[in-house]
Amino acid sequence: MSAPLQFMPRRTSKASLEEMAAITPILAQLRFSDDDIVRLLSVNTPGGLEALRQAAYDLTTAEVGNKVFYRGIVELSNICVLDCYYCGIRKSNRDIERYSLTKDEVIETALWCAEAGYGSCVLQSGERRDKRFVDFVEDCVRKIKTRSVSETLPQGLGITLSLGEQRLETYQRWHAAGATRYLLRIETTNRELFRKIHPEKQSIETRLQALDDLKSAGFQVGTGVMIGLPGQTLEDLAADIRFFEGRDIDMIGMGPYLMSQGGAMRTEGMLEKHKLMPLALKMIAVTRLVLRDVNIASTTALQALEHDGRERGISFGANVTMPNITPRAVRKNYQLYDNKPCTDEDTEDCRSCLEKRVVSAGREVGWNEWGDSRHFGRRQSGSI
Ligand code: SAM
Repeated sequence: MSAPLQFMPRRTSKASLEEMAAITPILAQLRFSDDDIVRLLSVNTPGGLEALRQAAYDLTTAEVGNKVFYRGIVELSNICVLDCYYCGIRKSNRDIERYSLTKDEVIETALWCAEAGYGSCVLQSGERRDKRFVDFVEDCVRKIKTRSVSETLPQGLGITLSLGEQRLETYQRWHAAGATRYLLRIETTNRELFRKIHPEKQSIETRLQALDDLKSAGFQVGTGVMIGLPGQTLEDLAADIRFFEGRDIDMIGMGPYLMSQGGAMRTEGMLEKHKLMPLALKMIAVTRLVLRDVNIASTTALQALEHDGRERGISFGANVTMPNITPRAVRKNYQLYDNKPCTDEDTEDCRSCLEKRVVSAGREVGWNEWGDSRHFGRRQSGSI
């Protein structure tokens, strides 16, 4: 099945036709050079964009199927020991009210996912590494796991963690407690750019080590980047895709960089919406073409840019979406960037509006399924 055409005007311009002719042979390839990747990322006509979208959409169907999987995201705390300059919940932002959900709140919220038919949840938070936090997460994971087992979910909920850089031992404990996937974005692989958007003491080496540790702890490993960072080039983004490939990554979660009033990059601005949205969609599509069988999330930040951003992400090759199920009372305090969507919507509203979004992109929802990364399955069985 194919999603409806999205970007083709009724009459195809000469520029569109020329670009389609130029990229058609590239789209037919199984392997891509760095130049090919940059060429696809620089597509700039409606016809070129549609050809790229269609190729990525069809490859998604062939490699990972027609289903989109839900992971309900619980933002369990906005307390953070880090000071990432782009982020609205960074340690130095004094203008937000800090919160932490109780253990019962985390567990009950996650269990709502199981009842709603979402096969998985994500526990995300600002960064903490203290013993109390590590024990807290371990206990939440263990209890969510045991309490979510049912006829429809015989293995319990699938649990993804997105809790930042931790020690190997911590990753091992959380994995043993029952979490099987972990999302830790590299943010950018350009070292100079990484340095500019983080304080001196946060190093890219620590993050690379954390990605290695996650793999050795047995997790399905997810990473990703912010797209459209001030100073970022198409070559940087192409290098990011190569990085995902080289590291044999199982899951990708990436989205547009959006300015935050609470961040420390306000003077640098952000890419205009009419450039940022297509760039983010092209990154999803090209990542799909290069990595093929990984899970790719259509992230909330896409919806902050456009009301139909998530379904656009799905039609460009994403197969996972992460509805926000954080209790409404605290959701407004997890403002990573300005205009974060769904902050005042009910979890139930999100559930029904999301299904419509998935169907409108020509896909179906994988109710009550974990939807694990096929790439991880192949990596485990040694078939790649
Ligand atoms: N502390 C964990 C970590 O760093 O992985 C999880 C929470 S962190 C807030 C989750 C992600 O939010 C980051 O990886 C970053 O890419 C994204 N993020 C933060 N500020 C953002 C912004 N201004 N625009 C887009 N994404 C942003």
